[in-house]
Amino acid sequence: MNEHFHQFFRLLPVNLQQYGIDLFGWYQARQRFGPVFERMQREYSERERWPADRMTDFVEDRLRRQLKLAYISVPYYRRIFSEYGITAHMLDTFTSGDLKKLPLLEKAVVHNDPDILLTEEARRKPGLFFHIYTSGTAGKRIRIYVDAAMHQHTGGVREARSLRWANVSYHQPRTVIGGRKVVSANNSYPPFWRHNRWEQQLYLSAFHINSDNAKAFADKLNDFKPSIMMGYSSGHYFLAQLINEFQLEVHAPKAIIASGERLEHSMRPIMESIFRTRVIQEYGSSENCALATECEYGTLHINPDFGLVEILRPDGSPTKKGETGEMVVTGFANVNQIFIRYRSGDMAAWAEKSCPCGRDTLPPLQDSVSRYEDMIIGEGGCINTALYHMLSSLPGVLAAQLIRTNASSFTINIVPSFGYEKNLGSIIERNIEDMLGQNITLNIRELHSIPREENGKFRAIISYI
Ligand SMILES: [Zn+2]
Repeated sequence: MNEHFHQFFRLLPVNLQQYGIDLFGWYQARQRFGPVFERMQREYSERERWPADRMTDFVEDRLRRQLKLAYISVPYYRRIFSEYGITAHMLDTFTSGDLKKLPLLEKAVVHNDPDILLTEEARRKPGLFFHIYTSGTAGKRIRIYVDAAMHQHTGGVREARSLRWANVSYHQPRTVIGGRKVVSANNSYPPFWRHNRWEQQLYLSAFHINSDNAKAFADKLNDFKPSIMMGYSSGHYFLAQLINEFQLEVHAPKAIIASGERLEHSMRPIMESIFRTRVIQEYGSSENCALATECEYGTLHINPDFGLVEILRPDGSPTKKGETGEMVVTGFANVNQIFIRYRSGDMAAWAEKSCPCGRDTLPPLQDSVSRYEDMIIGEGGCINTALYHMLSSLPGVLAAQLIRTNASSFTINIVPSFGYEKNLGSIIERNIEDMLGQNITLNIRELHSIPREENGKFRAIISYI
């Protein structure tokens, strides 16, 4: 749905919005749970049990098919391939080992010309697609083209490799915390959610999770009783913190599937104890080029039959196991807008050991995936989002956000709660100086809640330099 529709939608009275949601929900359920969804969830499940050589052949075949499609139908790639000496004939025997012969695809290329990666066929049928946008600041967002088949494809792979691993299914009642502005930001009374009964889905507004509304959210969860809670990691984490802070009773779902943002190690135990369930994480991106899903041993596995992932050093060479590098991705699911060797901006490392679950054909990652944007580099060290959890573990700090305004000036936004002490500033300043290896000046702002990004995500760290 486009933004104009959303704006119009938010102006309607709640009961009329519900009619709209019923209609849209019916449409969306048809979009998500069609024949492609069923076929994909079956095929991804079957492939999970394939021997390694069969999976490798499948992935290499997918890669060749995607490259040939790009060559035949995307003028941009035809030009790039010929610049790098790749002919159509060479693509018949191309392997993942040959990928290094092709250049990396920068986000700026797609940002400057949103249609550049579209196939000629997709350009002729603009009405078939709805657009989604990647996260990031407005000036860097990228338009992604999604059609019903791709929507079902991503639903199918998540059903097989994420929900099923957690013993749940899309066909069970679920809540979602995501970036859709389903409720006007000015609403200060419930409902802060919208119910899509066709999908048994309750969509919770990430923008309204704060101390004033904690009880309303807990009451609604106790009434709706979701089997699964899905969506942004920070939304679930803040909700758990608030439920704890106000000593509220809350329904226990069968699983929380945390996605959209990095799940920090310190977030998981709080979420698991308050919701009395397992939290599993999922790494994906709006471009739908890569997907990593968490198994019962807590390991994130890359799904290479969905998209090929390379982890590279800044000089473009592949990293060793255990060494962090940038994820460069080649997606197979999107056959309309083709991403080949796309620099995701996300950082990860291959695991040094195999996972006890035995899914060796789905390579395990060492840890979670982090975003390069969420790091601050200092003169003698760096800060990543783990800092945020040092901050929120201080007494009386419900949430915090670090902003770098110039090389040595920082602002911290803090949401104080019971037991907050004003003299925390010097402790925080010292901690940041230790991590960055430089002197800083720190300004502390106390806020009622921390503003979210346009897409509802929480940014723990923002740098303006
Ligand atoms: Zn595993």
